[in-house]
Amino acid sequence: MDPALRALGEFGLIGLIRRQVAHRSPGTLLGIGDDAALLAVPEGRNLLVTTDMLLEGVHFQRRWGRPRDLGRKALAVNVSDIAAMGGHPLYALLGLAIPPDGFTLEELQALLTGMEEEAATYGVTLVGGDTCGSQSGLVLSVTLVGLAPVGPALLRSGAKPGDGLWVTGMLGGSAAGLAALELGLRPGAEWPADLHRPGWLGTEEEAAIQAAMTAHLTPTPRLRAGQVLVGCATAMIDVSDGVASDVGHLCAESGVAARVVASQLPMHPGARVVARLTGRDAVELALRGGEDYELLFTSATDPKGLLSGAAPDLWVTRIGEVLAGEPTPKLVQADGREEPLAGGFDHLREPAG
Ligand code: ADP
Ligand code: MG
Repeated sequence: MDPALRALGEFGLIGLIRRQVAHRSPGTLLGIGDDAALLAVPEGRNLLVTTDMLLEGVHFQRRWGRPRDLGRKALAVNVSDIAAMGGHPLYALLGLAIPPDGFTLEELQALLTGMEEEAATYGVTLVGGDTCGSQSGLVLSVTLVGLAPVGPALLRSGAKPGDGLWVTGMLGGSAAGLAALELGLRPGAEWPADLHRPGWLGTEEEAAIQAAMTAHLTPTPRLRAGQVLVGCATAMIDVSDGVASDVGHLCAESGVAARVVASQLPMHPGARVVARLTGRDAVELALRGGEDYELLFTSATDPKGLLSGAAPDLWVTRIGEVLAGEPTPKLVQADGREEPLAGGFDHLREPAG
């Protein structure tokens, strides 16, 4: 353990976190410091509660990026779940397991700074958590509490035959960024000397790879988009495991079928470049790569007008449609062939990356 962390001890560290945290959410009657946080809930409103873990060796390698980005991502992936319910995030709890070696107090403070930056962006207050020493890697487990929208909840289960199937932003960027990191590329760094650089790879391609690594290391949750889609979207989910499996979840919960058209998928430019670089299929990265944290939703009407007001720089693309039938999605290939659309990341079926 870093001597500075050892000197501080668990309670010294909690004190340090407590001093670094800004109170920015209404209703925080009591944050860090007691046995539990005390939060005021507005009369007649429902809470949304979600949790997501980031494990070293499973979700990230420490050498890939800055601790500050890790802190941002730990909160961002949870904001994405609140966004997918059309809600407003308010309070976060941080479960923190600190590895026995190679992680310094300075890095931990950078991580907290990143988390506070993200919390400030989305109006969240860190109101508590738990701190332990880990026997292996760094673990960040964030729980986020928010308010559900007024009126009926926006669930995975409301899709109706005839609805369009839409997605925000671009797909495959995060998976491409992950593949680039695994190859040894790093954000903001020169092309590694020990990695072959193909002749076709120019500055534009390199910029696309950089953008993909950014998408992986610091995803942007589509909070505003999720909020304005309340009342328009009939069902919604955030793309954490990959469109292939997330469309499957919408179909299963809604009891509908769906058709996704491969040629309509909004491909991240980095996905094409990394696919060529690694001999992989770009559509595969977009469908099964996961961690894009875009919103996948169904709607009976065109949502473009609504979204252009709230999130003018965010693309939204119709990638298919909802159909009646068995709750299994289909993929329409470029040549018109239809095949079952299955797969996506499954933590219990795939080896830790
Ligand atoms: P207890 O033993 O009663 O669970 P702790 O000593 O674990 O209490 O925590 C003391 C206070 O510090 C609590 O308010 C808790 O929520 C907060 N806390 C502990 N760890 C963290 C952390 N990593 N981030 C934010 N708050 C934390
Ligand atoms: Mg505790």
